[in-house]
Amino acid sequence: MGDLFLGIDLGGTNVKIGVCDDAGGIKGRVSIPSQADRGPQDTVNRMADAAEMIMENTGRARACGSGLPGPLDLERRTLSRANNLPGWIKVPYPDLLGKRLGIPTFMENDANCAAWGEYIAGVGRGTQSLVLYTLGTGIGGGLVINGDLWVGASGGAGELGHMTMDPDGPPCACGQNGCLEQYASATAVATRWGKGGARECFDAARAGDAGAMAVVDWAADALALGIANMTRVLHPEMIVLAGGMAQAGTLLLEKVREGVRKRCFPAFFERIRIEISQVSGDDAGWLGAALWAARKVDAHAIREPTGLR
Ligand SMILES: [Zn+2]
Repeated sequence: MGDLFLGIDLGGTNVKIGVCDDAGGIKGRVSIPSQADRGPQDTVNRMADAAEMIMENTGRARACGSGLPGPLDLERRTLSRANNLPGWIKVPYPDLLGKRLGIPTFMENDANCAAWGEYIAGVGRGTQSLVLYTLGTGIGGGLVINGDLWVGASGGAGELGHMTMDPDGPPCACGQNGCLEQYASATAVATRWGKGGARECFDAARAGDAGAMAVVDWAADALALGIANMTRVLHPEMIVLAGGMAQAGTLLLEKVREGVRKRCFPAFFERIRIEISQVSGDDAGWLGAALWAARKVDAHAIREPTGLR
């Protein structure tokens, strides 16, 4: 039997915990409430208990990976802070959890985990480079380059939602103006439409509502512009659209493909595939984190014999 890996997706409301094999085959999973207000140790204890219960059925995992909302300090192995986990400041999260589980424990940005999951077990299988956009409340991003996750100098790479589209645009929570997520996130679509959520806006557009279609076009245009700019730097084989709004399906996908095509050098565009994510949204976070732990635990054995990362 091959190795098993434990993955954890720590969100503001729920923690999703699962066990998979090294190809992403799902063996077991559970969701528990985060209750982050009780503090990190309480949440970590309940996560570890739930993980032990899954592993009683699946067998023991070799390593654990956690997908977390940033910013992370990978060098100090701390979660600096997280908007959806109030009061969690400079938490030595992987060590707290690793102490309870007794296996090597890693953390990574949640959108990076989603990108890695699509690369190993989703639509990106067989590619060597992909760029993933998570289109939800905000916009996250993850980069796989030459078969490895690209996290940048200290873990800050892939913030695709904060690419500046218009320096005079609407203010963003990051402190800048006119970031991509002010135009192409589910929040931006819902705000501009003003009659419901992003999903309702897409449904209305498909049903022939011209106002809703204009909002979809506006968001798709911005996303296509962001993607076209990114491709001039990275020219990845594949661009993956993930998150709640990507699940709106072919309407957004077709508009984004057309928008990117118009803005890219034709010879380059021919070699870029733009696809919807395949790993289900409920599994994307924990599965990608588990598969990232599978990657890290071997790299760690080779490159970092004395200290955990
Ligand atoms: Zn921003």
